[in-house]
Amino acid sequence: MRLEESITREILEQRMEPEMEALTQRLFGKSVREASDREVYIVLLYLVKGLMDATVPNDGDKKIYYISAEFLIGKLLSNNLINLGVYEKVERILEKNGKTLAAIEAAEPEPSLGNGGLGRLAACFLDSIATLGLPGEGIGLNYHYGLFKQVFADNKQTAQKDSWLEADSWLTKTDIGFTVCFGDCKVRSRLYDIEVVGYQNGVNKLRLFDAEGVDESLVTEGICFYKEDIRHNLTLFLYPDDSDEKGRLLRIYQQYFMCSNAAQLILYELKEKQHDLRRMYEHAVIQINDTHPSMIIPELIRILVHDKAFPMEEAIDVVTKTCAYTNHTILTEALEKWPLEQLEKAVPQLGPIIRELDARVKAKYESPDVHIIDEQNRVHMAHMDIHYGFSVNGVAAIHTQILKESELKAFYEIYPEKFHNKTNGITFRRWLLSCNRELQAWLNDTIGKEYQLDADKLEKLLAYADDPKAQEAVAAIKQTKKKQLAEYIKLHEGIELDPDSVFDIQIKRMHEYKRQQMNALYIIHKYLEIRAGNKPVRPISIIFGAKAAPAYVIAQDVIHLILVLSKIINADPQVSPYLKVVMVENYNVTYAEKLIPACDISEQISLASKEASGTGNMKFMLNGAVTLGTDDGANVEIHELVGDENIYIFGENSSQVIAHYEKGDYSSGKLYESSPLIKRAVDFIVSPQMTAAGDKTNLERLYHELISKDWFMTLLDLEDYIRTKERMLADYEDQEKWRRMMLVNIAKAGYFSSDRTIAEYNRDIWKL
Ligand SMILES: *Cc1c(COP(=O)(O)O)cnc(C)c1O
Repeated sequence: MRLEESITREILEQRMEPEMEALTQRLFGKSVREASDREVYIVLLYLVKGLMDATVPNDGDKKIYYISAEFLIGKLLSNNLINLGVYEKVERILEKNGKTLAAIEAAEPEPSLGNGGLGRLAACFLDSIATLGLPGEGIGLNYHYGLFKQVFADNKQTAQKDSWLEADSWLTKTDIGFTVCFGDCKVRSRLYDIEVVGYQNGVNKLRLFDAEGVDESLVTEGICFYKEDIRHNLTLFLYPDDSDEKGRLLRIYQQYFMCSNAAQLILYELKEKQHDLRRMYEHAVIQINDTHPSMIIPELIRILVHDKAFPMEEAIDVVTKTCAYTNHTILTEALEKWPLEQLEKAVPQLGPIIRELDARVKAKYESPDVHIIDEQNRVHMAHMDIHYGFSVNGVAAIHTQILKESELKAFYEIYPEKFHNKTNGITFRRWLLSCNRELQAWLNDTIGKEYQLDADKLEKLLAYADDPKAQEAVAAIKQTKKKQLAEYIKLHEGIELDPDSVFDIQIKRMHEYKRQQMNALYIIHKYLEIRAGNKPVRPISIIFGAKAAPAYVIAQDVIHLILVLSKIINADPQVSPYLKVVMVENYNVTYAEKLIPACDISEQISLASKEASGTGNMKFMLNGAVTLGTDDGANVEIHELVGDENIYIFGENSSQVIAHYEKGDYSSGKLYESSPLIKRAVDFIVSPQMTAAGDKTNLERLYHELISKDWFMTLLDLEDYIRTKERMLADYEDQEKWRRMMLVNIAKAGYFSSDRTIAEYNRDIWKL
């Protein structure tokens, strides 16, 4: 459905109310007042699409193509209304008709196109690219059932398909499609666009490829499906379980499908604009978001050589000047290495190209550290990106430093000029203007609106750090957001939280390196202390949100541990007035938008050196939470910005941790034996009380993991963590001190606007 072609944005904006009425009549034969929330959502969806159609595209001579397997974009209605500048107007119209935007928003499904921080970063970047008016687009895949929907049953995570696609949606079907050839079949693609409107600026596009002929009925139970039927399953799920050979093979098919479509689209656009492919890099720059899109490099080279008659040398040169790579992790298990044999089975035509690229590297460099194909015949995707791209960037200062000094040292020595740091950022439109209307309104009144487009202007707030009225105001806003969250959690999880308690929140993917298990051990410690009569002066609510990869056994065990603890503690009449534990179901962007503004203590407790950047930490800071964290990722930069007195840093630093790995001198067993406090907490995991309420297999496995292996060194920092959290809770009682910290954190968050990050990418890498 489309609005009339000729309508202009001005007319639409001015006639918002009659247009809404007319469209509601046309679609549903009712007035806005009579329509359901769901119907009003659909009306607004089409009105906003009309407004975006009538907005000028951000165009230019050179374009950034941001390729990513994930775009965790979240719901779009509110953000689009804000960016189009009609949020208040729509709010008033709805109010007049007895409706609220919050209720309308609840009727919108959240797109399930991402998994965690990397996908959310891509979404924030699109918002900033559009807001800065840069020509560019995101390219990815349209997964029918997304990642998965998390449902708890028997205190365990189960995975269900997430059916987010609907007939009325932000996706617009285009008439663009390509053929992608695999070893055993050909698949036709179809391009769908989602428009991304900048804040007070033009529109860009997120371009999502789907496979024609995907058969949703292949999904049987939960997220199980027939993995071998590539032609019909290719875009069913994001990162289908790769715990078996067939799953891994399917990932290669998916990645190539994305890359081949992207390559064909980019070349098609260059041709449309009649650009000379030999100088492609003057008109296109491709940012490869982690290694999932790496096959775009050999694919472009292949097309240039085979279809465009380029000499190999020149094809390699042109592609190298066009592609830039972002590294997101130093976890070795996350750096993709595909067996060449498997890759060639899926995509035989890439084999010779990758071998050629590798041969050229081997002819020049002896060290196996920089080879693309290793001795076991595995293709190191990151190595291909670094040799055959012009830029490599890490995502926080300490992360880039570790890349240069250890993980990618051999590459840094060859190509020092390729390395950049680009500290991640978040879009303030979603993570402040939209999710915390109360705070943005107060900021507008107090320091003016300039910070909305120039985030550094938040620093004006520093002048108010000691102002009792400002302190009172931020505390009141926090209280409002805590009440709203408590109501939401009561409704969705059935657990009652006291808004006067301290809200301590850890939300992020479930992974051992992020150390949710350390927080769980704190909970056990606190529970035992309260039972022993050491009651806290103020109740504490500890809230988790996390999905775990279905095949990641230990992560599933940690979820089980937290859910069982939650059951036991919340039902204990002696303890629950002082301590509550909640793990919210199906943590996603929508939930994050409710949790983050309500947080007092932001848990950023990864093992130092393991979290590349983190962006959750930035969202919390911006909303006035105080960080409890290790010296890791962007926490390091938060620490530098706010100073020692406005953050709580604990535990060993990254050099110390890296030294433990090098020397192999960490022993969790020794720490467990030598500290009664640690032993008491860890032993409780397999206590009769726990095994009666939970599953002995899961709890025992986790217990043994902690005392015999503990690869991510939970016990290393546990004592310091407990001490620091206690100090933080005590400081919370000094409300003047705490409110001052809140204000300083908000004031200093400007650096983490993704507008700053994108301006840096453009200045140093894209040069649009
Ligand atoms: C920001 C965000 C993340 C990333 O959180 P980290 O704490 O940086 O890992 C993951 N998921 C969602 C839904 C987010 O909004």
